[in-house]
Formats: sequence, structure tokens, C-alpha cells
Amino acid sequence: MRYVYADNSATTALSPKVLEKMMPYLTEVYGNPSSIYTIGAKARAAVETARENIAKNLGAANPNEIYFTSGGSESDNWALKGVCHALKAKGKKHIITSKFEHHAILHTCEALEKEGFEVTYLDVYENGIVHPEDVENAIREDTAIVSIMYANNEIGTIQPISEIGAICRKHGVLFHTDAVQAAGYVKIDVQKENIDLLSMTAHKLHGPKGCGLLYIRKGVRIENLICGGAQERNKRAGTENVAGIIGLDAALQLAVDGMDERNAKLEKMRDRLIDGLLKIERSRINGDRVHRLPGNVNMCFEGIEGESLLLRLDLKGVSASSGSACTSGSLDPSHVLLAIGLPHEIAHGSMRLSFSDDNTEEDIDYILEIVPEIVSYLRSMSPLWEKIKKQEAQG
Ligand SMILES: *Cc1c(COP(=O)(O)O)cnc(C)c1O
Repeated sequence: MRYVYADNSATTALSPKVLEKMMPYLTEVYGNPSSIYTIGAKARAAVETARENIAKNLGAANPNEIYFTSGGSESDNWALKGVCHALKAKGKKHIITSKFEHHAILHTCEALEKEGFEVTYLDVYENGIVHPEDVENAIREDTAIVSIMYANNEIGTIQPISEIGAICRKHGVLFHTDAVQAAGYVKIDVQKENIDLLSMTAHKLHGPKGCGLLYIRKGVRIENLICGGAQERNKRAGTENVAGIIGLDAALQLAVDGMDERNAKLEKMRDRLIDGLLKIERSRINGDRVHRLPGNVNMCFEGIEGESLLLRLDLKGVSASSGSACTSGSLDPSHVLLAIGLPHEIAHGSMRLSFSDDNTEEDIDYILEIVPEIVSYLRSMSPLWEKIKKQEAQG
């Protein structure tokens, strides 16, 4: 049986090229970067070279603005809590975000609300895109930070980050973006786009799990995250994840090289799949069709449970998801699909397929062959589908 991994928004396979770059730092060069003897100094040099290269790839003015973390969740938590705690004394107690952020942002906002901060959750409309003018209208005297994700992890919609960045800069409000899904698929330039803080993680772009970064523009006031040694300019103590950092740099470099060509290939596959699946009656594509990640397909099929679809897909060798990896297994429909206005019963029948460079046109052929079969099978047993058909017949 064919195996198709179609859940690259949850995580990706480690690229053999990335592993090759990491290997020396998992074996011979095991020194602590803070040690002064040769293998320590070698590890330090590698970490700093990676920092410089990553800074360049993100358009940062200075490598010292890159802080290595354990991944996207840590970076998101640090950006919001760190800035809010640092600006509290200045009377800033308001946060602006959107309704469909990753839980690393939304749950951090809830925690900050418990501490007395106020949060405005902006609408993302039916197409899953934040309106920049809504950001401008929400800004208050006491706004500490705006946090809007670069691209959504469930429906793949890409946000107008440059416009939002310009608005925040104009009003002197800090701007953070969770670029975990966008990095490697969208050209990012933190200076041009007026981004003050940016979160990224390696494992969503064929790098290792457990390593990410927070870009913090020079001059941004932020509370230190971990007390201890002097690593990461005293802000985040702990011996560096040397191999992880090398892997993060290698993965971002590979993603940046040949981005246009890879995106074109993915977009072609994505669009053929969407067009094919839309032929299934009472199906819909979630999120804007144009402003979306090249590898993201998110569809709903009325009258079925997304979870049953996923289990059947797994039996046929296709790994897919109903949305966020973090919420699958729970019975609540996706907060993202509810945010774009889908009713509960439709949001329940969702499926996310996310592709990477490892996928092929043959994978798409296979999915186009099996999904319509599974959907009709599940509908044949669904009381909900029976009800829909009856209502249809009654006009
Ligand atoms: C995966 C993801 C995260 C979390 O990143 P981890 O490295 O797994 O902690 C945060 N934000 C978005 C948009 C994601 O897709």
C-alpha cells in the first residue's frame, strides 16, 4: 500500500541534508559553547555562524537579535509575557491578537488576562484574513503589543503582515508575528515589514524538533525568560542546543534556497487537489484560495465526522489531520473553523492535508482516488447526511 504523509503543518520529516550538517555536533564536537578549549570554541563558532546566517535570512539588522529557544510555543509565550511584563510598569495593559491564533498565543493571552491584562481578539472574517484597519481601530493608549500570525496553521491563510507592521510602527506599538508556518514558504524581512518580534521553529521546515528562535529587535524591552548562565545575552539561560541550532539554520537555508520553484510545484499540486475534491457534493474549501500557504488544503464535507474520515485515511496509508495536532483527540470543533464562521456541524467534518517538497503528484492522484470513496461510504451510514438529503428533497 502507498504511504502518504500529508500532515506537514504538524511536523515534517528531518531532511537527510539537515541531519548531515547536525551530525558532527551530535558526535565529535560535543563541547559546551561556553567552554574555552578547542571543542567548546568550535561549538561556539558554529552557533554564532548559524545565528549570523539566520539573521541574514530573516532580514534582521544584527545577529544579536536572534535568540534561540526550544521552539514555537516557547517563543510565542516569551514574546507576549516578556513584553507585557516589561511594559506593565508603564501602564500598558492591552494586547491585540486574532481569534484564530495558535493556542501558544491564545492560551498565553488567557493567562495574561488572569494577571489583569486586557485582550482584543480580532475577527478573521470568512476568508480567514485579518483586516489591517481593524488592527488600527483596536489600538489604544495602553496597547503593549499586537500579535498576529504570519500564516494560519489550520487553513493556511497568509496575513497582510507588512500592512499591520506599518500600522503598529506608526502608532508606536510593538508587533509580534508567529511565523512558524510561514517561514520557508514566504519571503520574510523583519526590517522591511516592521516586525519587532518573530517566532519560528525548526521542525515545521524539515529541521529537528525542540529548537526554535525568537527574533527580538534591538531596543525592544522584554523580560528575561530563564535565569542562569549568560547564554542568549543573559535572557535565556541554559547550554545551547548546538546540533538543534545547526539544524535550524540548515533547514531555513534549504527552505529559502529554491523557495519559488518549490512553491510553484506545491501550488500546482494543491490547486489540482482542491479542484478535484470540490467535485464532491456539499464540500467546501476553508480559507482564502489565493492568500494561502502553497501546501495547505483544508476542506469540509457535510454529513460526516472529520475524525472518522481521518481514521479511514490512516487505514489507506494517508496521514492527515482535522486541524491542529494539539486539539485533535478532543471533541470540540476547531476554533479556527468557528472563527471563520462555520457552524459546529460543518466544522466537525473537516480535513487538513498539508504537503511539503517530499510529496509528489502521485500522492495527489492517490488522495483524489480514495477521499471521494471514503466520504460516500461514511455518508451512507450517517443519519446527519440522511437528514440533509431529506431537507434537500423537500426543497
Ligand atoms: C507548530 C506551531 C507552533 C508551535 O511550535 P512548536 O515548535 O511545536 O512549539 C506555534 N505556532 C504555530 C502557528 C504552529 O504551527
